[in-house]
Amino acid sequence: MSHSDPNCLFCKIVAGQIPSKKAYEDEDILAFHDIHPWAPVHVLIIPKRHIASMADVTEAEGALLGRMTALGPRLMKELGVTNGFRHVINTGPDGGQEVYHLHLHVMGGPRPWLKG
Ligand code: AMP
Ligand code: ZN
Repeated sequence: MSHSDPNCLFCKIVAGQIPSKKAYEDEDILAFHDIHPWAPVHVLIIPKRHIASMADVTEAEGALLGRMTALGPRLMKELGVTNGFRHVINTGPDGGQEVYHLHLHVMGGPRPWLKG
């Protein structure tokens, strides 16, 4: 697949080389459950194409980011979250980013949560 980094963990998830618990998939976007959830419901929404971080995003990605963002509420509803949720994107070392393939954390469910 083009636009893929062979050393990237999330590209390997997109390619099916590493298993994930999928919550949504289309041509451009994949959503799967975080392996170490901070909240009762915690999904990661990623572009299938390798984009390292928000620092690499331009206006050309506006529609893609809009679709990823709008998928959050839909998934929370499908997963039974009824009392609010949180969108988070960590960027770069000081932003706490650990995996360098752009991902939107969407978290919900009753508190307390592990982080935040
Ligand atoms: P960040 O710190 O924003 O880069 O977040 C990376 C997230 O990816 C963390 O919440 C990890 O728990 C999650 N993660 C790492 N490996 C996997 C995996 N194989 N499947 C699902 N989530 C993962
Ligand atoms: Zn990648």
